[in-house]
This record gives sequence, C-alpha cells and structure tokens, in this order.
Amino acid sequence: MAEKSFKVAVLPGDGIGPEVMTEALKVLAAIEDKYSVSFDKTMANVGGAGIDKEGKALPETTIDICKSSDAILFGSVGGPKWETLPPDEQPERGALLPLRKIFGLFCNLRPAIIFPALTGSSSLKESVIEGGFNILVVRELTGGIYFSEPKGIEEVDGVRRGFDTMLYTEPEIERITRVAFDVARKRGNKVCSIDKANVLSTSVVWRDVVVLSDEAAMLTGSLGMLPSASLAEGSFGMYEPSGGSAPDIAGQGIANPIAQILSAAMMLRYSFSMNDAADAVEAAVEKVLTDGYRTGDIYQGTDSEKKVNTCEMGDAIVAAL
Ligand code: NAD
Repeated sequence: MAEKSFKVAVLPGDGIGPEVMTEALKVLAAIEDKYSVSFDKTMANVGGAGIDKEGKALPETTIDICKSSDAILFGSVGGPKWETLPPDEQPERGALLPLRKIFGLFCNLRPAIIFPALTGSSSLKESVIEGGFNILVVRELTGGIYFSEPKGIEEVDGVRRGFDTMLYTEPEIERITRVAFDVARKRGNKVCSIDKANVLSTSVVWRDVVVLSDEAAMLTGSLGMLPSASLAEGSFGMYEPSGGSAPDIAGQGIANPIAQILSAAMMLRYSFSMNDAADAVEAAVEKVLTDGYRTGDIYQGTDSEKKVNTCEMGDAIVAAL
C-alpha cells in the first residue's frame, strides 16, 4: 500500500505534447514503485484537443478535473490546425491564460541548467560555461501585457490596428519579487534584474524582476530540455515544458521528453514536497545524458553519443531510476 497519494490532472494537449507526456507518466510510475506513493491521474483535453473533442480550448470538464487535483501536469498546446480561429478561442489564449487566471498561477519558475554532458550543445562557448551554470528564471504570469486591459483589434480612420496594455501593480511586483529573493536565498544569493526602465513606465515601477526565459533554451542546448513550474500561493502548481507543441516534428516519435520529465520532477518537488524523488529523476536524466543518450535536438554526431527516439529516451531514464 502506498503511504501517500496525490491527484494529478494530466493534460497532454497537442503536437508532441501527448508523445512526451507518455514518457513522463512512465517516470511517475517508476517513482510510485520506488517511493511508496500513488499518483491518481485523470486525463483531460486541452488546447486543440479540447476544441476538437469538446468544442473549447479549456472545456469545463477539464477545469473541474484540475480543481479536484493537487497539481496539473501539462504538455503543450497549439498548432497550424487552430491558427485561423478567433484569437480568444485559439489553444494558447483560450487555455493557458485562463488556467493561469483560474488557479492564480502567478509565479513561473524556469530552471536552465547545463548538464555537463551537453556543454557542446550550448550556444555559449565551452570555455565560458566551464563548470556549468544553473539559472532559475522567475517570471510573473498573471499581470503585465498578457492580461492588462484594454486590449484588442480596431479600425480607426480606415486603418486597422492592434493594441495591448501593460500594467503592473505594486502588490503584483512585491509578490513575485519576494519569490525571486526567497528562491535566491536557497541558491547562490544572487538575483539579476533585467528591465527596460529607460523606456517603460512599468519597468520604472518594477526594477526587481528577472525576465529572461526563451533565451535560456539556447544556453542549455534545446527547448526540449527546459521544464517549467507555474505556482499558485500554497502547494498547487501547473508543470509544463517551456517549449510548444513543435508541429514540425510532431507524430514522428523523435521529440525530446526530458523537458516534460523534468517538469514532472518539479511537480514532485514543489507540489508534493518529494525532494528525494525529484532529485532521483534529475539524477537519472543526468546519468542518461552522461551515458550518451541523445534525441535528435541535442545530438551532435560524436562517437560517444547514442541517437534515440522519444520512447527510448523515456525508457533509459526509467532504467536509470
Ligand atoms: P515550439 O517550442 O513548439 O518549437 C520551436 C522549436 O523547438 C521547433 O523546431 C521544435 O521542433 C523544437 N522543440 C520544441 N520542443 C522540443 C522537444 N521537446 N524536442 C525536440 N525539439 C523541440 O515553438 P513554435 O514552433 O513557435 O510553436 C509551435 C506551436 O506551439 C504553436 O502553435 C504555438 O502557439 C505553440 N506554443 C505552445 C506553448 C505552450 O503550450 N505552452 C508554448 C509555446 C508555443
């Protein structure tokens, strides 16, 4: 009998989402065996899959399943098939933004760690990253230009234009800044603030936030390596790869499942307080990389590398666990 049990809403989404999710679920099954825990998983539609099967990017049934869960494990949403829908109905705007709002997911954590075996895949020179790096991007998620009103598309004097509003309140700034400094205290005691205070009024009010994320993908070698956590107050969170649904490689079984698997590890750490299990998953990922396993996005063609597909990478990580 498992000692602990957690409810997980599993939302694979579109494109490579379901492919990499399958591998993350294998890893969670291995964690159940090893740590006497059980994950009560409920699958739900989201994004294009939600539109196709239930008529909405974020169906009510999915919201209910998420509300009755301890955490959400999310794949990715979007793809060319749904890009002609009105913007508010499209997978990202219709699913991701409401999920952030409904669950108060104000804090996005995006670790960018270079694994020693992958220094050759980084956009930085090996001499620069000797000794590795470990960056944690902390990003505010429920304010700013994605959410502030008014926004829209209008026609004025026969000219069509789009507009957004960027607004941050002091309490929003304080809340995310506190997270950044709390996290920094447990790491290297450093917070790097990047803003545009010479131009933007919001940046003048808010100089204390770190706002770099996609840039980190190139530093770690691939988007397929970057997990993320979106946290609410308390232990609830949503965990997903930083990349998208990668329609260019979807359906081929070649996507890198590591971002999804490391997202599951973040869920173990931040929502379930299972630090040992999270450490074990991260160590297993590091081991398979050191052993030379590479999906296409991180493969460089050297003799020490073994090119594998999505499923083989998942199996190797489970075996290392
Ligand atoms: P993308 O992240 O899907 O892909 C960018 C590049 O990275 C592609 O070449 C892709 O093949 C590669 N890539 C991404 N993840 C990978 C993985 N796990 N393994 C190997 N390679 C990987 O970004 P895009 O092409 O700009 O967007 C594609 C779709 O995804 C769009 O519909 C977009 O709206 C959506 N999107 C969704 C999310 C999300 O669900 N959170 C985030 C970003 C983009």
